[in-house]
Formats: sequence, structure tokens, C-alpha cells
Amino acid sequence: MKLPMLDMPASLNYIGVFLTLECNLKCSYCINDPLQAGHRETLFPIPVKTERHTMTPEQWIEGLSRIPFSPDLPITLQGGEPMLYWGGKGVGLVLEGVPHYVDLLTNFPMKPDTLARNLNGQQAKLQRNAPYPSIRVSWHADEMNRVWGNGFEELVNRCEALANHGFRVSPDKAESDVGIYMVAHPSNVVTPEMEAVFKGRVPFESKEFLGVDGDLLHGHYLYPYSTDLIARGFSEQTLSCECRTSELLIDPLGFVWGCHYYLYETWTHGGPVAQFYALEAAGFKFADTIDKLFGSRELRPIGHILDPEFRMTDLTVFRSCSEYGRCIGCDTKIKNNRFQSYYDQGVAHTSVEIRNIQMPQHLLAKLSPDERTQPWLIATETVA
Ligand code: SF4
Ligand code: SF4
Repeated sequence: MKLPMLDMPASLNYIGVFLTLECNLKCSYCINDPLQAGHRETLFPIPVKTERHTMTPEQWIEGLSRIPFSPDLPITLQGGEPMLYWGGKGVGLVLEGVPHYVDLLTNFPMKPDTLARNLNGQQAKLQRNAPYPSIRVSWHADEMNRVWGNGFEELVNRCEALANHGFRVSPDKAESDVGIYMVAHPSNVVTPEMEAVFKGRVPFESKEFLGVDGDLLHGHYLYPYSTDLIARGFSEQTLSCECRTSELLIDPLGFVWGCHYYLYETWTHGGPVAQFYALEAAGFKFADTIDKLFGSRELRPIGHILDPEFRMTDLTVFRSCSEYGRCIGCDTKIKNNRFQSYYDQGVAHTSVEIRNIQMPQHLLAKLSPDERTQPWLIATETVA
């Protein structure tokens, strides 16, 4: 059945498809782990083969076909490690069925020949005309050295070899389909030896590390305490607020979520697998079944991409949240929107918009005078 097309608002900033939360690595700072406690492997075990923890490629094609083609808003495939989806062949199968450009966030888990073969002849969909590479390969020093021995050299070689498979590879990021990105976690540094390896071959950049390491908060956030309230011991209780997103975030089973914390936290408990099967049996009629499927749980999705009634306006509603303080950094950090709002007009963008944060006096007192008067805060005597 062909589902109705979605009406994408101009304010939509990002489309993130989490094809799978499986990963071949286990980085200590993995952002999928809301606690960043270095136990990713136990939180996201490789599921038993008899139980499906992802939608099929056909279901993804049906769901993503609802998104109108746009040359400047790609669908970003991420995870976990998206190239592991559907036995490694899933990305190519999905791309074959949709017209969209995609960006791929990957750790390059397979040899270049295998990766290219698994793309199933769909390379052109990863070659959008953009100022930065569509294939963004992450460098994780500890894990890649553990797995490959000479991790960085192997990674650069793999990226460079994509030139043999129809991709543009250039040290200039605007001219290259592939680039390497390093999370600037304190344990990741760029050494002169690394520079000698990547210079003149493949673009290489550092990305700000978001989160707490030791007692230090890394990153710049619009909303005070949003990511470190609990992690840095400012409070034992999260706060209440109202929140809405400017991103379309879809989990491996097609559920649409209001923020990364809700998505990741749900998947650290195995994901909404039983709910998916029940919803599938009910023809994906989400509104009819959500209360039955998720009970009174606050961590519930906004909708499902295969629900014929799902509308993008479902994302624009402010919803109550009592988990403020556990937000994931990428949701509350200050950044540009896709129109470069921060660099060009000084307008800070965050993935989520938060209001009515119920802030107790003892936390307010620690903020700067400027922060204390922000319109999204409401002073309370006690934690709500
Ligand atoms: S490669 Fe990415 S998803 Fe996998 S463990 Fe490392 S940070 Fe997490
Ligand atoms: S306040 Fe934080 S945890 Fe709650 S919905 Fe917004 S981003 Fe998610």
C-alpha cells in the first residue's frame, strides 16, 4: 500500500534513520549509551538471529518513500553501525528503492570492496553536491587500534580505496565524498604521525566531544544543566519541562522519537520490539494502540513512520518531560541550523526547543545572572 506523502516543514533540520543499534566497536564514550559509562556492549548486545530487531528493507522503502525528495536535506543513515544492517546488505537494498540522497555515518567496518559491493550500485545517492562529505567515517583510536592494530593507517587506506569504486576522494572536503571525523574526546588526540598519514589524501576533522568526562562538561549548551544535572551530581532528580524537536528521528523499528535520550534509553532496555509486532499486526495504526502498547510510560514514541495517519505536525507539539537533566548533548548543544543560522545571524539553534523548565532555587543560584533570566526557566522552591 502506498502511504501518504509527508509535508516536510521548512524548519525541519535533520532526518536521522537509525537502521540498527548494533555496532562492531565498543567505544567508551559511545553516545548511544546515555550514561557514557563504557558498557555499550552489554547495553546493545547483538540480538539473537531468530528475533527481528529492525524493520525489513521493504518496510524502510515504504516508510522513507513518504519523504519528498530534497537535494539539500539528505536522509542520514546512522546507528550503531548502519553498514551492519540486514547482514551488511541493507543499506544498498534500501537505497535501491528510494530516490533520496543519503549521508552515511559509519566506522567503515568492512573492506572497501565489500562495502562498495554492499552498496548495490547505489553510489550516486551518496554523492550529493554538498560542502562536506556525504560518507562521514568516524575515527575511534582505542577501538580501531584494538581491532586493526594499525588503526589509523587502515582507516585512511580504506577511505582512499573508495576512489576505485566511483567515489570522489580528495583532501579538500568540498571535493570529497568521504571524510574522517574524530570525536575530540580527551582520549582521542591528533598526533604528528596521524597527520603524516592523512595529509594530502583524505579530509580529516575533529568534532566537539559532547558530555561529561571526569567532572568536566564538554560542549556548549543552550539550556543549563540539560546534560550534566545528574552526571555531575548537581541533583539526584531530573526536572520537569516541556519539549519539542526540530528533527525527524526514526529508530530501527520505525518508531519516531522526540529526542535522542528517549530513543537511546528505550533501546538500552531492548527496544520496543513487542510493541512493534503488536503495531504491525494492527496495520501500524499508532494512535489507536499507543496507550495499550506503552501504558503510562513517559518514554514513548511520537509516532510510527508506517502509520498512514502519521503527520510531521505531530513533531511540533510541546510535550511534558520529567527527564530534563539527562538530555543527550546533540539535542541541547548550541549549533547552526541547516541554514547556518548561528554563524550568519547569531541565532543559536538546538535540536530541541525546551520551555517551562521547573528549576529549584539552589540550582538557579549557581547560574549567571544572564542565564537566570532566560524565558525558558521557571523558578520553583523544590524539585518538581
Ligand atoms: S563506533 Fe559509534 S556507535 Fe559504535 S561504539 Fe563507537 S561511538 Fe558507539
Ligand atoms: S527535555 Fe531532554 S530528555 Fe526531555 S524530551 Fe527534551 S531533550 Fe528529551
